[in-house]
Parts: sequence; structure tokens; C-alpha cells
Amino acid sequence: MLTVKNLQATLEETSILRGVSLSVGSNEIHALLGPNGSGKSTLGRVLLGDSRYTTTGEIQLCGKNVENMEASERAQLGFFLAFQSPPELDGVSARELLFAAKKSFDPEFHSSFRFKKGLLDKLSQFHLGEEFSEREMNKGASGGERRKMEMVSLLTLNPRVAFLDEIDSGIDVDAMHSIAKGVKEFMSQEGKSVVMVSHTEKLLQLIPPTHCHILVGGQIVQSGGPELVQEVHKNGFEKFLKNKS
Ligand code: ADP
Ligand code: MG
Repeated sequence: MLTVKNLQATLEETSILRGVSLSVGSNEIHALLGPNGSGKSTLGRVLLGDSRYTTTGEIQLCGKNVENMEASERAQLGFFLAFQSPPELDGVSARELLFAAKKSFDPEFHSSFRFKKGLLDKLSQFHLGEEFSEREMNKGASGGERRKMEMVSLLTLNPRVAFLDEIDSGIDVDAMHSIAKGVKEFMSQEGKSVVMVSHTEKLLQLIPPTHCHILVGGQIVQSGGPELVQEVHKNGFEKFLKNKS
């Protein structure tokens, strides 16, 4: 579903990703852990095709090389990024944004009535009022509300590969459960993959990853199974910092 080979990314001459290789298969949940500033969010943005970065290396999404593709084309292929800091969008409501996105994936998709009903169901699943459908996307929304809107977007657009960047930061305990339930609902379908960045033990307990990677200084210094998550939560990243030097 997603194969990354020796990915390097620089931003304004600062090297941030320094040779990341990663392979994410169908029905797999990969936890991406690492200290602050190690490049986790950068990886998500580079995979989406953020044009501010200069990149080398290879990214394949659903079997296609996406090197020359715009973010919108990568999204159409099935990539979704839940932003760590979802931006406010002036003048565009969630309904308009998601309907336009849905239509761009599937030109046959016409039913705005059916779409609106689905969207309202998803909002209520995350305890967001109906007004979030018409309100400008994320305008004045709290951190937790923005996270929930990312989940509403994920389930509405139903991509193939979802990169969830700290989808659980700053949320209350009920939201944690509804977000975990939402990710499970997404993964209950055949042929989906998730890459999940998280600093909390709780989410990774609720959604046990199948694989885990430790990113330090723009490089994956160790990959393994779920036991790696436990090790990090118990002993921190110190050991992996030493691996690097
Ligand atoms: P993480 O998500 O792992 O905490 P990020 O991917 O957000 O880390 O950031 C990786 C590194 O890139 C950090 O050291 C950060 O300071 C740096 N960085 C991010 N944006 C810029 C920028 N505009 N200019 C220079 N460095 C940046
Ligand atoms: Mg980050």
C-alpha cells in the first residue's frame, strides 16, 4: 500500500528526513514513535506531497510512484493525512470541503442529500453538533474538535492509507474512545492501512499496532512489532538516541 525507499527531505536547506525506508501493507497499523522534532510530521507532509520540501528517494502509493504527483493526485490515489495542527479554512464549510473532495475521487458521486446525511451521522458519532457541517472548517474550533473533524473527514472520504498525526493529542477521555472506535471502524474494512503517530500509551492500547518504528533525527533507527511500543513507554527514547550515535 505504501512503500518508502531512502526518502530524504530538506526544507530551506535544513535536512529533516535523512533516508527513511518504510513498507506498510494492507490491513496493517504502523505506530511511528520518536522524540519531538525527529521528523514524524514532516514525513506525513512529504508523503502527501507538500511542495515546500525538496525530496529525493522513492514513494510508492498503492503500487504507483507518486514522485511527480500533486497532493490532490496522491489523495485521489487513496492517501489521507490527519494533520497534527489542522488549519482553519476561511469561507469553506466542512460540508463543502468534504463534498468537493468526495466528488473529485468519484465523479459519479452526485447525491448531496445522501452525503449530508452521512456527514451528520459521522458528526454525531464524534459528539459534534450539526452546526459543524456548515461552520467554516475548524474556524475557532478547539484542539479536540479539530481532531474529531479529522476523524469525520477520514471516515467520510474513506481513503486507503491514513497517516494520523497525533490524532489523540489534547483530547478528553470520551473523545479518546470515540477516536479509537473510529480508527477500528476504518480498519475493519478490507485493504486499509494506518500509520499512527502518538505519544500516548492509551491510544496504542486501544488500537494495538501491528508494527512499530522509532524515528530519531530523520532516520528510522529501529523497527519491530508491538513490543517496541511497550519498551518506549517503559524506558523512553534514550536507548534509541544512543543507537544513533
Ligand atoms: P515531529 O513531528 O517529529 O515532532 P517535525 O517533523 O514537526 O517533528 O519537525 C522536524 C524538524 O524539522 C524539527 O527539528 C523542526 O524544528 C524542523 N522544522 C520544521 N519546520 C521547519 C522550518 N520551517 N524551518 C526549519 N526547520 C523546520
Ligand atoms: Mg509532529
